[in-house]
Amino acid sequence: MKKMLTSVLCLMLLFSLVLPASAETPKDFSCRLLYNPWNSMGADEAPEDMVSLYSLSIVVSLSSIKLDRQSASFARAMFDAMIQDGVTNYMVVSGYRTYAKQQQLYADKLASYKALGYSDEQADQLTRTIVAVPGTSEHQSGLAMDISNTAQGGTLSGNVEKSAVGAWLKERAWEFGYTLRYPKDKSNLTGIIYEPWHFRFVGAPHAQILQERSLCLEEYITLTKEQGRTVTFTDKNGISYRISYADTPGDYDLTETGVSINPIANEGDGYLVTEIIHSPLKTPLRWS
Ligand SMILES: [Zn+2]
Repeated sequence: MKKMLTSVLCLMLLFSLVLPASAETPKDFSCRLLYNPWNSMGADEAPEDMVSLYSLSIVVSLSSIKLDRQSASFARAMFDAMIQDGVTNYMVVSGYRTYAKQQQLYADKLASYKALGYSDEQADQLTRTIVAVPGTSEHQSGLAMDISNTAQGGTLSGNVEKSAVGAWLKERAWEFGYTLRYPKDKSNLTGIIYEPWHFRFVGAPHAQILQERSLCLEEYITLTKEQGRTVTFTDKNGISYRISYADTPGDYDLTETGVSINPIANEGDGYLVTEIIHSPLKTPLRWS
């Protein structure tokens, strides 16, 4: 019996040594990057694996608020760091939102403009700048949340920017893979008004690049895809990355070399490939 077990173990070891990390290797597709007025989702699209933020002891306005599991775990670390810095009154007021809920929000806002006397077309144009058209909201991806604070009763307004929570997030959210998605003066690119409360998980190192270069996601995609530029940079741990556009995922070996691939938007829109080109760490790092 013992001999048989030894043989099985030897065989397993042999297989693990000889099996090539080939095209058979499962690809690690990280989160999709673009959800915006020009890159929408289907009505039935929903994140595969979500978790309640309340269950992670994150302060929420409603216990039903959920987020993609990975984004939620980074959010947990982010709020822990915020509290350590003495900023304790944050409150998450929105996370994953269904297509149907977005439809309802849109219809309500549209009706409020019409009640003010705007024509159908004017009301529609105004609504689009405030509420995302159903299918284009990042909230449907489960990767975005709206963060306010208890001092303001969890309201979402320009005042969030002036609060300690807003200021802290603006400076440090990138460290946890989050980006201030709709920055000031970029509304013409994002299609959404300035929202100091809306943070989107994109994963590091993307969040750090966006922060350091003051780019919104649309500019980042233009730079890498349309302009064909390769972005290289070194993070605070001394790890160097190379990020470039690819039409297809290709044959990157994701498990061995520390490669991550983000779909840009829908099928056919290409990918951003992130490779670690130098790391002082011995073990491969998973960063997003
Ligand atoms: Zn939002």
